[in-house]
Amino acid sequence: MAIVPGSGDAPAQYTLRAGEARLDLNARLGQPLVLRHTGAIACTHCGRATKKSFAQGYCYPCFKKLAQCDTCIVKPETCHFDAGTCREPEWAERHCFQPHVVYLANSSGLKVGITRATQMPTRWLDQGAIQALPIMEVDTRQQSGFVEMLFKEQVADRTNWRAMLKGEVEPLDLIAERDRLMASLDSGLAGLRERFGADSLRPLDAAALHFDYPVLEHPQKIVSHNFDKQPEVAGTLLGLKGQYLLLDTGVINLRKFTGYEVCVA
Ligand SMILES: [Zn+2]
Repeated sequence: MAIVPGSGDAPAQYTLRAGEARLDLNARLGQPLVLRHTGAIACTHCGRATKKSFAQGYCYPCFKKLAQCDTCIVKPETCHFDAGTCREPEWAERHCFQPHVVYLANSSGLKVGITRATQMPTRWLDQGAIQALPIMEVDTRQQSGFVEMLFKEQVADRTNWRAMLKGEVEPLDLIAERDRLMASLDSGLAGLRERFGADSLRPLDAAALHFDYPVLEHPQKIVSHNFDKQPEVAGTLLGLKGQYLLLDTGVINLRKFTGYEVCVA
């Protein structure tokens, strides 16, 4: 599912990609939608059929072999490239040894996160964030991991997806939160600059971004659909937020089912 920010006051625009077909999901709001999983799952990396999906979209061999499926991607501070044990050093050069951005976002309250500069604003839309503010740029993924670790002493790094879907999220003054955190984490940041170089952590003076989602009605109670348990998911589409479809019969996180073959009607 592809999400792009709406232009002007328009909410985010959702497009469902099913094979060659492209379905404008915003246009389906308020209408019935049926998604039926055929049982086929294809690895998003190699295309091979797989009985089970690993790490949201990979076959088992890819999951064990690819650097992008290694635990250091989720915990960048554990990068082991320097030890010579990176699964794919060339991939790492292109992805990990590239500028990364540390950001604050408001998805279910204040959180900290990291992303490659090229992944903004997709990353925030995927999380269902209503606000985001890039606060710092660094040279590598590992460095962004260390900065994130520091911020995690004071801020969450996860989204409470139930609260995010219920729409119970108050807007925050992200600029003020940034200034407060930067001041209180000053000595920790100085320590990282000593380790990685004076220019390694570069504060950004960006404007806070705001995102709206096409939601007619937020669910009061969260019930999750799961293709592995029930191949047919049907209901009236009430909203789109993050990677979730909100139906009157329950919600479904489409990211979780990446690679699943689905018929849409
Ligand atoms: Zn594969």
